[in-house]
Amino acid sequence: MTADRPADLVLTGGRIATMDTARSWASALAVRDGRIVAVGPDAAVRPLIGPSTRVIELRGRTVTPGFQDAHVHPVHGGLSMLRCELHADAQSGPGYDIIDRYARSHPDEPWIRGGGWYMAAFEGGTPRREDLDRIVPDRPVFLTNRDGHGAWVNSKALELAGITAATLDPADGRIERDPDGSPSGTLHEGAMDLVQRLLPDDTPAELEEALRLGQRHLHEFGVTAWQDAIIEPHTEERAYVALASRGELTGRVVGALWWDHHRGADQIEEFVERRRATAIGRYAPTSVKLMMDGVLENFTGAMLEPYGDGHGGTTDNRGLLQIDPDGLAQWVPAIDALGFQPHFHAIGDRAVRASLDAVEAARRANGPSDTRPHIAHIQVIHPDDIPRFRQLDVAANAQPLWAAHEDQMDLLTIPFLGERWRWQYPFRSLKAAGAVLAMGSDWSVSSANPIGEMHLAVERMTPAFYGGAQEVFLPDERLDLIDALAGFTVGSAWVNHLERETGSLEVGKAADLAVIDRDLFDRGAGAIGDARVVGTFIDGVAVVEDPALDG
Ligand SMILES: [Zn+2]
Repeated sequence: MTADRPADLVLTGGRIATMDTARSWASALAVRDGRIVAVGPDAAVRPLIGPSTRVIELRGRTVTPGFQDAHVHPVHGGLSMLRCELHADAQSGPGYDIIDRYARSHPDEPWIRGGGWYMAAFEGGTPRREDLDRIVPDRPVFLTNRDGHGAWVNSKALELAGITAATLDPADGRIERDPDGSPSGTLHEGAMDLVQRLLPDDTPAELEEALRLGQRHLHEFGVTAWQDAIIEPHTEERAYVALASRGELTGRVVGALWWDHHRGADQIEEFVERRRATAIGRYAPTSVKLMMDGVLENFTGAMLEPYGDGHGGTTDNRGLLQIDPDGLAQWVPAIDALGFQPHFHAIGDRAVRASLDAVEAARRANGPSDTRPHIAHIQVIHPDDIPRFRQLDVAANAQPLWAAHEDQMDLLTIPFLGERWRWQYPFRSLKAAGAVLAMGSDWSVSSANPIGEMHLAVERMTPAFYGGAQEVFLPDERLDLIDALAGFTVGSAWVNHLERETGSLEVGKAADLAVIDRDLFDRGAGAIGDARVVGTFIDGVAVVEDPALDG
């Protein structure tokens, strides 16, 4: 080793979580030509320092593999950064002032667009049109909520869309109404399309700018690879192809092609063609996103047993399964046989079960495959289904930030689940049952910060900057920090088929790393969620560098 050419970059004197199979620790790491050439004690790595080697003295700070987000929407997140952005400040209030400011500063926009409002900020989780009319009476307003499953619109938007008391609910959604049947200002799920189809298209330039902003935002949090959970041809796909072909895509990206639930097997051929035509540079569209259900807060999550009425009684509503399970039993084996990865969105226990059943059908039809199906969100899992993740080789794709007692959980979810509330986000049970755990943020639904997410996975309490609930949410399901870190590194790398190149810090792998401002594993150093990334490297090149990196 010492006879080799000097390294380009050496990090030394740190706490390096290699995340190799032995979960070993090192204090130093050397990089040459974008690859890791040494990992070990300082004494073994220092001889690789030459006159032109950049040396970063870590002084006890933690280095991890670059984080990988297994379910995220960077283009959408970037677009909301460009528009009326309610995510940041609206957790505690309805955000009227932000909307007002945005409308005043964008007098020429024909539509006020944006999103990120928080259901718990509104009575019953459903904001009203009059409140928007007061701020923006003259132009249509369309604002999605922070989980993207509902939209808040003003009277002008309802009028342009022709939505009245006489308008029927679409099959895949619901118009929130007053007792007289007139639309009150919230559109759920498929009902959003009634207004959304009127919006001006995002221009290619806006989409590319959004992806640039989204990528930048992820890199700032140490994220070096991700799975984009919705790729549609005219929006996300365009942006990735544009950036990838110009070499501007620095992150490694797997794209999950959106399964249109209004169509059937005919779209599979198009997926094959799009995979062939759009795989460029670091962009690989090798996954298919199957949106199985909605969310629990508006009762569109698909449940095995009906929702409660919130007062100890029951209803006859079991939510909506958006993709027909009989069709799914044909389509999932078909996409698996073509080498596509099924990426399910499943919130309710019926949606989780239907996803597992579909993979079981694929296993029966095709035998074992390397497509690595994964189920994202996994909010409610029937206990009988937990061992099936391991049995069927399905990864659990967890969004740990949601596993907390916050208003959305305590006011809008638990009262309607009854005893089933204890089946929520069973991360430790899944791990104990041998499932691969991957993790993701679902940004812009929630924060893109993996360190914040890991804080939640470990504490099951929100860190102070997210609003700080004081009661631990289902304490038996807390993970150890190293397992949460595995979720954001090796686990997600496996889901992304990137584990040969990335996900752990080992000789020969790409030098994708995150440098954290402290020893993340020292509980005396403060809350996990207080830590921040000060340097992000991809192939040994800094994509984010804080002045504190060399300090
Ligand atoms: Zn998502």
